[in-house]
Amino acid sequence: MLVTFYGVRGSIPAPGPQTKKYGGNTSCVHVRLNNGQNIIFDAGTGIRKLGQKMAANEEPLLLILSHGHWDHIQGYPFFDPIYQKDRQINVIEGVEGNKVALHGLLNQMDGSNFPVHAVDLPSSIESIADVGAFLKQQPFSVTREGLNHPGGGFAYRIEEDGVSVAYVTDNELEPPGAPATSYGDWVDFCRGVDVLIHDAQYQADDMPAKHGWGHSLISQVRQLAVDAQVRNLVMFHHDPERTDSELDEVAIENAGFFGSANSRIGALIAAEGLTLELAARQDPRVSTVDLFEV
Ligand SMILES: [Zn+2]
Ligand SMILES: [Zn+2]
Repeated sequence: MLVTFYGVRGSIPAPGPQTKKYGGNTSCVHVRLNNGQNIIFDAGTGIRKLGQKMAANEEPLLLILSHGHWDHIQGYPFFDPIYQKDRQINVIEGVEGNKVALHGLLNQMDGSNFPVHAVDLPSSIESIADVGAFLKQQPFSVTREGLNHPGGGFAYRIEEDGVSVAYVTDNELEPPGAPATSYGDWVDFCRGVDVLIHDAQYQADDMPAKHGWGHSLISQVRQLAVDAQVRNLVMFHHDPERTDSELDEVAIENAGFFGSANSRIGALIAAEGLTLELAARQDPRVSTVDLFEV
């Protein structure tokens, strides 16, 4: 299984000299399964570069949206495969019970917000109506859990050939009021996963102003990794104001935290172009970490 990051930023794209190292594009992660299937988590602006690679073949695509906020759909009009004739693209939307198929994803292509109308796309885009039944038919194991986020959404955990990855964004581990999913249930959901990709947008000094905005503190995510005994943690959905040097600081703090916790947990800061190769082997840490040029 290959996991590649094309967009790691939260809320809004944040290009510029201070975000060059980790990248300024919004959420998009490509999971390439051993069986050749392509799963794409979210269609933030990072999906543009992924689309250029995907347009080179005709493999079917499964796009899974965590939810429909702008930073998770805004790259879709620039995703090359949607302009390929009869290209099969299945989409799982983030919010269950949404009566309008592909509501945000395609409604932004209305001639007003974007010049091309969704109805004119030549590809074959299908919004999966019965998500539960569809996921059960897949040749890989998948579970999901409701996000603690304004408007809702879902986190996903995928397992294939003995390795697993969980994609958990946008999620506030300890929200004000009743959570959609309790902290204890998040620990269960993430338990023992090989790679946990988790929203880590905020630092302590963002609080209390942003309590309830639907994102987690870096410190909370570290604790979740320990409590769930994940093998590798990838901090994701960086705040648009978080600079490269600040994220480098977080990496240093991670090394201190996980070192002193005497854990074997690997900790990474998500960066555009980061590819993780997951294979079942004795060393639990990610076997190959590679950066490609985007
Ligand atoms: Zn977001
Ligand atoms: Zn959101």
